[in-house]
Amino acid sequence: MSPAEYQAYQQEFERCTQGLTYLTTGNSCECESCSDGGEDEGHFSRYPCDTCGSRLAGQRHSAHAQAEPFGLVHLEVCEECLYYINYGRLDDQTMDEINHASKSNTLEKPAES
Ligand SMILES: [Zn+2]
Ligand SMILES: [Zn+2]
Repeated sequence: MSPAEYQAYQQEFERCTQGLTYLTTGNSCECESCSDGGEDEGHFSRYPCDTCGSRLAGQRHSAHAQAEPFGLVHLEVCEECLYYINYGRLDDQTMDEINHASKSNTLEKPAES
C-alpha cells in the first residue's frame, strides 16, 4: 500500500464511520444478526466492507457501533478495518511499506544537479 492509498483509505474510513460512536469489533449479545454465532471467526463475503467500502471479496468480521437515532448497528468489516478499528493503524508489514515509501518520496529524493 502506498502513502496515497493509505490516506485514501483513512478518508474513506472516516466517511463510512461518520455518525457512528462506540465502534467495536467482535460479536455482540445485544445484536440479533450475530448474537447466536458465538465467537467471531470471520467469514468470506463478496459484499463491500461497511467501514471502508472496500469491494475486494475476502474475510469479513463482525463489528458494532451506535448510530443515532437507530441505536446498535451491525457492521461487516474487512481485515484491514478490523485492525484499524482496534489499533488505529494497519498491520506492521503494511505500515512499514507506507513508511518506506513516504521516506523515499521525501528524504531520499535524488539531488538534482
Ligand atoms: Zn451483530
Ligand atoms: Zn474495510
